[in-house]
Amino acid sequence: MNRITTFFIAFCAGFLPAIPLFSLKFAVWGGLAGIVVWLVWDSWRFSQFDQQLRNAQAGLPLQESSGMWGQLTQRVRHLLRTGDQQLQQSDQRLQDFLSAIQASPNGVLLLDADTRIEWCNQTGAQLLELDAQRDVLQHITNLVRAPEFSEYIQLGDFSHDVVFETASSTAQHPKRLSAQLHRYGSSVQGSVSRLLMLVRDITALELAEAQRRDFVANVSHEIRTPLTVLSGFVETLQNLPLDEAQRSRYLGLMQEQSQRMQSLVSDLLTLSRLEASPAPSYEARLPVAQLMMQLERDARAMMQVMDLPGNSTHRLHFECEVQHFDLLGDAVELLSASSNLVQNALRYTPPGGSVDVSLRILPDDRVEFAVQDSGAGIAPEHLPRLTERFYRVDRSRSRESGGTGLGLSIVKHVVQRHGGELRISSEIGRGSRFAFTLPASRVLISEMRLAA
Ligand code: ADP
Repeated sequence: MNRITTFFIAFCAGFLPAIPLFSLKFAVWGGLAGIVVWLVWDSWRFSQFDQQLRNAQAGLPLQESSGMWGQLTQRVRHLLRTGDQQLQQSDQRLQDFLSAIQASPNGVLLLDADTRIEWCNQTGAQLLELDAQRDVLQHITNLVRAPEFSEYIQLGDFSHDVVFETASSTAQHPKRLSAQLHRYGSSVQGSVSRLLMLVRDITALELAEAQRRDFVANVSHEIRTPLTVLSGFVETLQNLPLDEAQRSRYLGLMQEQSQRMQSLVSDLLTLSRLEASPAPSYEARLPVAQLMMQLERDARAMMQVMDLPGNSTHRLHFECEVQHFDLLGDAVELLSASSNLVQNALRYTPPGGSVDVSLRILPDDRVEFAVQDSGAGIAPEHLPRLTERFYRVDRSRSRESGGTGLGLSIVKHVVQRHGGELRISSEIGRGSRFAFTLPASRVLISEMRLAA
């Protein structure tokens, strides 16, 4: 029933009974009295409805009621419920969006127009060394104090990024970040309302770039040296009247240089192949007995061609604790890595010294290949850098013996590709030990042993 109907009913309820009982005049008063009662009742219902709305504002549920005010209450309840649902949905969407940003590998910060932090993902907090909760509403420049960053914010030119070091960055453990701000949101009287800040860690990237530059410089240097020598000899041969003995000496030296370039190019190709190819499969087998035999043969052949004064030579000792095992992996790579260590031991151990090569199974079923020499040894400060490309302790010694400075780098790559580990220990004056281990999964008891 709508309000006009109830109003009319109230009027009639006062008016109609009075006509037969009294007179028309009384009936009019009766009708007016009915209207007054209706007004009081309607005002009371209205105040009830108003109270319901106040309760709803305070978060209390709306009560069921009848009549027209009840219908109105129903409608308000429906509107409130729809509003609540929409609010929940948009809140959920916001949470999903924030979770997506949370998962970003880069740091993301939302700043207000005054560069105060409004929100920050975990990566951003970790990179900038902030607390994602505690530091909300703090000025970013109070927390990130690198001068480059402060200047960047002050200048307000966000068309490019800024690179700076974090507070915890040290010379041994540098941590460099790249940050860029982007304006977003609506402008209020020309001023930008918000700023999006993206941060990423570029330490590894810069390191890789520096290594790449060093590598190119090193390769150029390594190739230029023999090339210069070669072109010098060619010029000499072209311009000077040389006797046969001199000619053959120069040609010998030229061959040495071209050999050096060949070794360098071959090692570089090996390295790039190792980096580009997937981890070796477990299909191919290399019997350890065959490996040790081949290594010994090569070592003895090398000793013969080595120009050792007074024909003195090294004491070579090969020991293979386990004969009937196969190594699972790339046979060529494993042979080249182990042979590299044996050759190094021979090259860096003075004549008369000893070189012991051993292969054994460790208690945890890993296999260990080790080369122990009695050479001059290596100072501790060089040990961590030995596997870097072109790193040499004694440059001239390495060159004299035909080294490229890439050998140990290749060994490390091969070992790591097979899931193993290269360990170097050395003592000045007492010699060095180069050993690599391969995981148990790369070792297989060969059929010969099983048959026995
Ligand atoms: P290179 O071709 O110069 O031998 P490597 O990568 O094989 O390059 O070795 C790097 C450096 O490690 C060598 O230049 C040498 O100074 C040092 N080195 C390697 N093996 C030995 C060893 N057995 N004894 C002493 N020094 C070694």
